[in-house]
Amino acid sequence: MSTIEIRKVTKKFGAFTAVKDADLKVEAGEVVCLLGPSGCGKTTTLRMIAGLERATSGDVIIAGQRMNELTPQKRDIAMVFQFYALYPALTVGQNIAMPLHYENLSKADTDARVMKVAKIMHLDTVLDRMPNQISEGEKQRLAVARAIVRDPNCFLFDEPLSRLDVELRHSMRGQIKEVLTGLSKATVIVTHDQLEALTMANRIAIMKDGLIEQVGTPHDVFAKPVNVFVASFIGTPQMNLVEAELKGHANGMASVVLAGQELAVATDPAVAKLKPSKVMIGIRPRAFTSVQEKAADTISAQAELIEPMGAETLIHARTATGGDIRVVVPRDKRVKVGEALNLRPDPRQTHVFGEDGKAVRA
Ligand code: ATP
Repeated sequence: MSTIEIRKVTKKFGAFTAVKDADLKVEAGEVVCLLGPSGCGKTTTLRMIAGLERATSGDVIIAGQRMNELTPQKRDIAMVFQFYALYPALTVGQNIAMPLHYENLSKADTDARVMKVAKIMHLDTVLDRMPNQISEGEKQRLAVARAIVRDPNCFLFDEPLSRLDVELRHSMRGQIKEVLTGLSKATVIVTHDQLEALTMANRIAIMKDGLIEQVGTPHDVFAKPVNVFVASFIGTPQMNLVEAELKGHANGMASVVLAGQELAVATDPAVAKLKPSKVMIGIRPRAFTSVQEKAADTISAQAELIEPMGAETLIHARTATGGDIRVVVPRDKRVKVGEALNLRPDPRQTHVFGEDGKAVRA
């Protein structure tokens, strides 16, 4: 069974801990993206799974077998790197066939495998060309084709699309996801691009400073971030995180004072158990149900900067107490710089974080 598991895996470089107690299990047919800011330990984690880096402690288990001491070759993993090296003197078809070299297949079997993969990766019409005669997108697909032509235990991708331009990345994301879905293998993809992770992954592991902060579906990490780091890291524009004072609760609603105004927010039962305290309120820029109408439970602010984003407009507004709030409205909603806004957060889409930065959630 194609599975990848790391248990309490730690990597130290001298006194520096690059990855700490990482736990993750990737099932057959599942794509998990390691996502996080530069230097958080994504590549080190991937390299420990691949066997390119030895874990300082913890277990690396592939296809049910502990593999800490095995070389990368013995782990039978296919890897696609950011800087894939193609053989420049071999044709596209010969490049795809290279990993089959040690399998002692007949020429007919090799050709059949190459053609099957070339068709999946839409390379069947360029098999006789040399690598310098194909486009960047085709080169990227060739790197993936070489990885999937064998039948390895699992797949590892390190920033596979970062060399491509925006348009190509967009189409390749979908193509790679489609191919991986059909292969029933455990796959780990390292990326620092959240859109890539949100579109390609079944689950996302979000890392910070060597720690896995949250593992969840794209929906979960967006809708139920476990802490302020995940909340601010996932979603563009960034979630607003505003300091507030929790006053009390009634009828399933908590009452908070935020930017000098009292609001009813969040219905999570765990919030009702909190004593009056300082909290952080998280509101996504698209989670304001009304922007200009004066009403109860609104935050007064003044529009300071208007940024058209195509179908939508991003407004940067300043509250009465000097805080910044980002609001996204449809393009046809006209707001002018200097205009007074009354922002009404959707109480069902309001996140409450405690003083420790953790989400208050049942
Ligand atoms: P990026 O997105 O920039 O590639 P990353 O999340 O993949 O970052 P890693 O490459 O895993 O991060 O590095 C994690 C930390 O470990 C970084 O601070 C890095 O400088 C450090 N590090 C990585 N390799 C070594 C090494 N061989 N010796 C010492 N420190 C290292």
